[in-house]
Amino acid sequence: MAEFKRVGVCGAGLMGAGIAQVSATAGFETVVYEVDKGALDKGMARIHASLDKFVEKGALPAAEREATLGRLEQTTNLEDLKRSDLVIEAIVENMPAKKELFRKLDALLAPPAVICSNTSSLCVIEMAAVTKRPKQIAGLHFFNPVPIMKLVEVVKTIVTDQATIDALFAFSVKLGKKPVLAQDTPGFIVNRILVPYLLYAIRMYEAGLATKEDIDEGMKLGCGHPMGPLQLLDFVGLDTTYYIAQIMFDEFKDPLMAPPPLLKRMVLAGHYGKKSGKGFYDYPS
Ligand code: NAD
Repeated sequence: MAEFKRVGVCGAGLMGAGIAQVSATAGFETVVYEVDKGALDKGMARIHASLDKFVEKGALPAAEREATLGRLEQTTNLEDLKRSDLVIEAIVENMPAKKELFRKLDALLAPPAVICSNTSSLCVIEMAAVTKRPKQIAGLHFFNPVPIMKLVEVVKTIVTDQATIDALFAFSVKLGKKPVLAQDTPGFIVNRILVPYLLYAIRMYEAGLATKEDIDEGMKLGCGHPMGPLQLLDFVGLDTTYYIAQIMFDEFKDPLMAPPPLLKRMVLAGHYGKKSGKGFYDYPS
């Protein structure tokens, strides 16, 4: 089984920055790539702030913070990913952009290298199909915030080979994560269950069956969830949930996956949740 040594991360947004951070903290030589210097600086600032928080809480020795940063390279030149034996793509959730990047990475990387996508909802085999190494392409789906959340879904397409899956399981364990095996179907494991649940909470609220506070309290106190579904929707982003629900509904035509009218209207109004200052609840800046 191949062991990864040098890890490339494409995109230093919310997820990419977190993935680069945990990879470097776990001892991997890590290079993070962005489209421009502004985005790269923003991503690096996020990594610095997160590492500082770990040090403040006593969860990371200060020397480890320095060692982590020492293992982290940053670039706006894709060529600098050339020596990577694993590249994790965490750019925008847009299939043409992902396919273009996969094509370039396939041409750049050595034949044994593995390429993964952190996509939440897109079809991994569609990215694999534009490369000459489809057996070495998989999904590696992290959860937000990456440095805190334990789970990684390792997503096997219908052609990913077992050696790639085994190597990604071993890599995830080295990051201190718990990998689970998922198939290349919309929602993988977690969102396949979570999204219909969240949409059902919106339907209950929309129908006036309970207040938003009671729906959230009900699921927190009755089921032991750390957050109620409407709070969680605000945290994840209503726009993101709407987008994923549409993809899941398109594929399965299951009415439980259809975005409720209220969700569509809130997204059209720009009520995306915490990130826009307003969702089911208000978030004064
Ligand atoms: P984001 O918008 O925070 O970050 C995306 C970054 O990618 C931006 O910094 C952008 O500059 C960069 N980018 C765009 N095109 C690029 C390219 N061609 N090359 C390099 N960088 C490029 O998005 P995010 O929330 O970090 O999501 C990234 C991916 O992770 C998406 O596929 C998303 O579905 C997935 N994901 C998101 C979450 C979440 O909770 N946000 C959870 C799991 C998976």
